[in-house]
Amino acid sequence: MFLDLRDRRCLVVGGSETAARKAELLLRAGAYVDVVAPDLHEGFARLPHAERVKRVADAFTPVLLDGKDAVIVVEDDAPAASAAKVVADAARARHIPVNVADKPALCSFILPSIIDRSPIMVAVSSGGESPVLARMLRARLETLIPAAYGRLSALASRYKERVRAAVKPEQRRAFWEKVFLSPVAEMVFSGRDVEAEAQLDAMIRDSASHAVSRGEVYLVGAGPGNPDLLTFRALRLMQQADVIVYDRLVSQPILDMCRRDADRVYVGKERDDHAVPQEEINLMLVRLAKEGKRTLRLKGGDPFIFGRGGEEIETLVEHGVPFQVVPGITAAAGVASYAGIPLTHRDYAQSVAFVTGHLKENTFNMNWEGIARRDQTIVIYMGLKGLPLLCEALIKHGLTADTPAAIVQHGTLPTQRVVTGDLATLPALAEQAGLKAPTLIIVGNVVKLREKLGWYQPEQHGEQARRTPLEAPDHLP
Ligand code: SAH
Repeated sequence: MFLDLRDRRCLVVGGSETAARKAELLLRAGAYVDVVAPDLHEGFARLPHAERVKRVADAFTPVLLDGKDAVIVVEDDAPAASAAKVVADAARARHIPVNVADKPALCSFILPSIIDRSPIMVAVSSGGESPVLARMLRARLETLIPAAYGRLSALASRYKERVRAAVKPEQRRAFWEKVFLSPVAEMVFSGRDVEAEAQLDAMIRDSASHAVSRGEVYLVGAGPGNPDLLTFRALRLMQQADVIVYDRLVSQPILDMCRRDADRVYVGKERDDHAVPQEEINLMLVRLAKEGKRTLRLKGGDPFIFGRGGEEIETLVEHGVPFQVVPGITAAAGVASYAGIPLTHRDYAQSVAFVTGHLKENTFNMNWEGIARRDQTIVIYMGLKGLPLLCEALIKHGLTADTPAAIVQHGTLPTQRVVTGDLATLPALAEQAGLKAPTLIIVGNVVKLREKLGWYQPEQHGEQARRTPLEAPDHLP
């Protein structure tokens, strides 16, 4: 929430230098500030718009809250701390937003770190838990957002009515996105406002003569679950799409990064129970794109590795729907890294095979001779249920029973668990551990390296350990 405090009256309790800085924030928002303190630090006199500041009392009494829109309390001397609670309670009783410096428990609102590109304002908050971290993030954003962003926003504001008249409502968002991604923005940032306006005029003329823009499908790999492992391109498209079509493997934190007002369609698949048949998903994508929507098909890992991405875009091609594909970190790559198991190694493995362990009528349809080789790492997707049969088959086709093997649950996530053993022992160990899907199995001598190279120790504390981000209930729309 951003409060509009223009010409409103606020109360600051405290007269220190810190209190002066808080008063400054209020003044910059256009407020009048009444101050309660026996005396004021000289900083108050130097504030911009100091004429809007008035010391109204030595000590707080509830009547001072009359007509106030916000209250900030700064208690620099510890003994007075209990007074802060009195003010906070009184303000809350009257439903006036109150902030007590360094006492998150007493606050009904917090003062975020801000990046000011007025009228654009970016606020960073840690909910009062870690102001230092919020301030560091703010420093990074400062460097990312050109100082002239405010001017770009002002230009948009000047053209708002003209665009409204020329561009149909359903195309306006796309129009402005095109503007902000076009050379217009760069022109404003480099001070060429006249050129920018000429360009914008041209874009408005163009949009009037062009047909309705067609929708598009983005087939995007979301990686193995940890949002840090998304690509920039995936993130950019996630924040533009009108509709998100996602399945079970896409973790909640990743969904949370999608455009907030995008429609979400869950087409999750569980083993042996395809929530929405593949053909229907294919046709749904065609339909959404033809309705003019930018449709994001979000998939776990990489769309082209056991992801049926090929089938989906084949249907798009047949229907002439434009699309783009964004690769993701496939489970094998992500999970192996986070488990500390290099998939190839000069001494142990010269090749790696990605195979599916999905059983069809209790058998595997696989070229075992090509797969079960001593000098090759085998990565098995979808293998949890078939694990005993898989290990048996690998031994039958030439691997020794003591070939190292690992199974990784929820790789790259806070709920990651790794169980290691060998082809003889792994099935029982996995069963004992009670692992939950999705899991990835890695077989080969490289698994031994984990003892030395394992680096990721997710903290299994409290809530986080109990929550399994990939489990269905959270995902159901
Ligand atoms: N396209 C995806 C794979 C889809 S098949 C990719 O490229 O990764 C689904 C299988 O991927 C799961 O059964 C599991 O074997 C594996 N998988 C996906 N994410 C995983 C994760 N975070 N941890 C372990 N295995 C995972």
